[in-house]
Amino acid sequence: MLFGRSKRNPIKIADKAVVKWKTATCGYCSTGCSIEVGLNDAGKPVSSRGVGGADVNRGKLCLKGIFEHELFDSAGRGTEPLMRGAIHEAFQPAPWDAALDRVHDEIRRIQNQHGRDSFAIVSTGQMLTEEFYTLGKLTRGLIGTNNYDGNTTLCMASAVSGYKRSFGSDGPPGCYEDFEHTDCLIAWGSNLPEQHPIIYWRMKDAQEKRPFPLVVIDPRVTMLAQNADIHLAVTPGTDVVLMNALCHVIFDEGLEDARYIAANTNDIESLREEVAKWDPVRAARICGIDEDTIRVVARLFAKAGAAMQIWTMGINQSTHGSDGVVGINNLALITGNIGKPGGTSLSITGQCNAMGTREWSSCSGLPNYRLLENAQDREDIGKFWGVDPEFFPKKRGMFQTDIYRAIETGEIKGLWLIATNPMSSLPNTARIRKSMEKLEFCAVQDCYRDTESAQYAHAFLPAGTWAEKDGVMTNTERRVNVVKQLTKPPGEAKPDLWIFNQIARRFNKQNALNFPDTATEIFSEMGELSKGRLADISGMSHALLERVHGVQWPYSAEQLARGETPPTGGKRIYTEDGTFRYPDGKAKLIALAFVDNNEVPDEAFPFWLNTGRLIEHWHGRSKTGKLADNNKYSPIPFIEINPDAAHELGIKADDYVRLVSRRSDAIVMAKPTHRVPQNMIFLPFHFHDCANRLTLGLLDPYSRQPAYKQSAIRIELLVDQVEAAKASMEMRKF
Ligand code: SF4
Repeated sequence: MLFGRSKRNPIKIADKAVVKWKTATCGYCSTGCSIEVGLNDAGKPVSSRGVGGADVNRGKLCLKGIFEHELFDSAGRGTEPLMRGAIHEAFQPAPWDAALDRVHDEIRRIQNQHGRDSFAIVSTGQMLTEEFYTLGKLTRGLIGTNNYDGNTTLCMASAVSGYKRSFGSDGPPGCYEDFEHTDCLIAWGSNLPEQHPIIYWRMKDAQEKRPFPLVVIDPRVTMLAQNADIHLAVTPGTDVVLMNALCHVIFDEGLEDARYIAANTNDIESLREEVAKWDPVRAARICGIDEDTIRVVARLFAKAGAAMQIWTMGINQSTHGSDGVVGINNLALITGNIGKPGGTSLSITGQCNAMGTREWSSCSGLPNYRLLENAQDREDIGKFWGVDPEFFPKKRGMFQTDIYRAIETGEIKGLWLIATNPMSSLPNTARIRKSMEKLEFCAVQDCYRDTESAQYAHAFLPAGTWAEKDGVMTNTERRVNVVKQLTKPPGEAKPDLWIFNQIARRFNKQNALNFPDTATEIFSEMGELSKGRLADISGMSHALLERVHGVQWPYSAEQLARGETPPTGGKRIYTEDGTFRYPDGKAKLIALAFVDNNEVPDEAFPFWLNTGRLIEHWHGRSKTGKLADNNKYSPIPFIEINPDAAHELGIKADDYVRLVSRRSDAIVMAKPTHRVPQNMIFLPFHFHDCANRLTLGLLDPYSRQPAYKQSAIRIELLVDQVEAAKASMEMRKF
């Protein structure tokens, strides 16, 4: 008689009848996992799997990537162009030509009446790089508004600004392989297991093979903090104080790398002078970390052979986000931890192609990190595109967060939103709603018809998404990887590149500028423009990227000609003395004063509101909210609340509560947990009309990125739990 396992029915994996696998790069986060999508014999995407030979993910995918094929026929996709006279009227289907003509005519009407910059364009980190480049050419070379930005201002602007201030250019210097060489890792405001699960797996895999201490700095006991050797639950908004105190100890105990500082940096004296004020005793009173722990962490970091720092939104989304990034860079520079294996300061980017927009969209300047403020850069791009350089503005225009203020004041009258949803993603929704209502004309170009922002559109342009299009994306470690079209956009929806080219034709009546039709032609144009630049991609082609599953820039035509096997050239940047991007090749050490300007808890609003992400959802859930396999994990807006705080307020597990800030309110379910301290709640930001009803979102002075994580609220237990459940249903929309 047979017992045990041999008698059990084996687990069967459903046969999806895949007949062909096609390659793409995941379109959710910036990890950049290589993915294969399985098609059945009708050509329908039915399955997803990680690519075993890809260096980034080595066969793995997270919960989002593994169900990514389901989004092609998810609910709410835009399938036909729509138009209407006013936003209270019903949309009517329109032919593409009519919709495109209307967008062109309204842009020119508004510009003619109110000036070139009275029409704004806000794009995204979700499109493909060739699309960003084309939109940049259209905006800078033909439309001519300077109020052009991306939604990346909401996630990565502080990293960009901090890199530029410290190193003279944007561009993350390290790579994932650094986890395999580091002797110490500090993670600032980054919950890798939920935000970037496959980077977390790379880190954990490296740590298991070659142990190194992990220090996590986060006000909340995140999943990463649970894995930490040392967790520093810093007081919200005080990271710069902690950074200054760490520098103080390093200088005080002579642990700095004097040779590296002399060869590679300027302004050490002003940094020394500022951090001298921040002895750990004084710092501890502000940042909430005891002086002994500050000293231990400073010694651990400075004495490590190679020490690495990573960060995400806990640093960037702050009133001093840019300073926080500079503070991280200061620590790396004074200990010689840039450009060497295991020694780096690596911003973990947000959206799948936030890097692509930073490099090529021309939002904050001109292609490939060229600056509007630099006459030679304006001259070079003008000549290359066939545009009079005088047509370009001489400094960058408004950031996305300032564009809505300018709509409020009437300075901006028209808006074109591309793959972004400010009615969900910007802080203080009530204020944004009033701005949107004031627009004379709004065009929304998106793959989903049912976004909150589409309610304010006069024209809706249905676009393709992810692998319905061809092109490349750049991930967090500067790896450019390819996405191939594996299915067509639904109905009459078109790839974004097609839409940009059609609009360009309407502005480009003399054919003065060239707008190629295919992503491969555009990529080779970009390669030409990149020659000799920091982000040199001239040795890359779509075919090469597909074959090797991505190459890190720089990878030049010379490297290709020398037969250098990619990605050797681009693992790290700033690897040699004097290679930073300031004219003298040195980085800047920057003294950081602490400015305490956040909204903080008080008697009326006694809790910190801390917002963040869950592993199963992506941003505003316009995708994952409709995929059952993702949405079922957390379909309900909820808060984490400390059990003692809940007890004091009479709140039990799963009670509905009302969160109230000075802006508005939201109804959520309460989940008591010791992950948060007694004076803080954590609210995932994904849910419809919820977190951003409450946030204040003061702006960083350099990056103009909002402080999503530092607002004050109070909590009210709802007496009628049935009514509360109904109100909560509204926020579960999709
Ligand atoms: Fe996609 Fe990011 Fe998950 Fe990788 S970690 S599968 S890139 S969502």
